[in-house]
Amino acid sequence: MPPRRRCGATSTASSRRLPNPCDRSTGVEGAAVIPAPFRYVRPSTLAQALELLNAEAAACVLAGGQSLLTQLKSRAVTPDLVVDLGALDELREIRSRPGTVTIGAMVTFARLAKNPVVRESVPVLAQTVAHVADVQVRNRGTLGGSLSYADPSGDLAGAVIAAGGTVRLVSADGERELPAEQLYAGPFRTVLAPGELLVDVTMPRHDTAHTAYYAVARRPADPTLAGVALVATVDADRITDIGVGLVGLGDRPLAAAATARALRGQPLGGAEAGTALADEIAPLPSTAGQAEYRRAVALTALERALRQLTQEAAS
Ligand SMILES: Cc1cc2nc3c(=O)[nH]c(=O)nc-3n(C[C@H](O)[C@H](O)[C@H](O)COP(=O)(O)OP(=O)(O)OC[C@H]3O[C@@H](n4cnc5c(N)ncnc54)[C@H](O)[C@@H]3O)c2cc1C
Repeated sequence: MPPRRRCGATSTASSRRLPNPCDRSTGVEGAAVIPAPFRYVRPSTLAQALELLNAEAAACVLAGGQSLLTQLKSRAVTPDLVVDLGALDELREIRSRPGTVTIGAMVTFARLAKNPVVRESVPVLAQTVAHVADVQVRNRGTLGGSLSYADPSGDLAGAVIAAGGTVRLVSADGERELPAEQLYAGPFRTVLAPGELLVDVTMPRHDTAHTAYYAVARRPADPTLAGVALVATVDADRITDIGVGLVGLGDRPLAAAATARALRGQPLGGAEAGTALADEIAPLPSTAGQAEYRRAVALTALERALRQLTQEAAS
């Protein structure tokens, strides 16, 4: 098979795993507001969707459309084919099994916030949704779309990483499962190969864990400057285990392993891990603030997330 073409651009890339054709870094950024022409299909099964994606070199998938439609209108991506996942009910399931919860890629933010299984077993996801945009975006945006878009500031990624989530990626050639933090290859870039779909996310149940998400943004609907998600097991007021997910603090969402190690064993009320956090973040400078400012904000976000965790454990 000839090398697959990235959306809207000819490519001679020879690497075995080519970039996701829907990465925001592809194509031509411009002032256009009307998408370039493309074909649109709405398959009714996952198998059909994978077949279509396998057959078409320059295809993009459409989930909630909250990011993709803007990319299409600005011609940042110019696919020949858009495959709408909206009719795939199998990607809307939330399955509770002993020890794990699996959430389909097409589950919306709004459903995550309301679903009793999510609220009980992965509460950090429901807490995080409260920080995402507005009602309209939460009604349309999906978990799979948010993770696949790979925005370094995308709030949900931090929660999924803190909860120890794994993503299942499926293509016509087979499937693979990765820890969520390994989905990312850089800003707005994932390791998803052309034709590959993120189909679901599995997390261990955290029914007895204490959780928190604290995010700092300049204004409520602005991108998160620093977001800290915590999922902690506490025994006799000490943190015995903890997952830490960070967003806005690197070129991709991060699993903060050193920060988690520093927090383990500390008393819940007085836990501190600022030095470890400072060593493992590398915020990108942006119009929202220079890297040094964002490092300071990160320390504040960690302190406040820990305070929120303590309050939650006491309630
Ligand atoms: C006004 C506004 C405010 C926002 N504020 C926030 C915020 O505060 N916090 C936050 O985290 N996000 C925010 N977002 C982003 C929002 O969360 C996005 O909608 C979301 O990141 C993308 O989800 P979607 O389902 O709409 O995906 P789409 O826009 O449909 O797709 C996004 C990208 O992912 C790819 N994709 C989608 N699903 C899959 C899949 N299953 N497998 C492989 N690739 C896939 C698409 O091809 C596309 O490249 C905001 C968006 C808007 C418009």
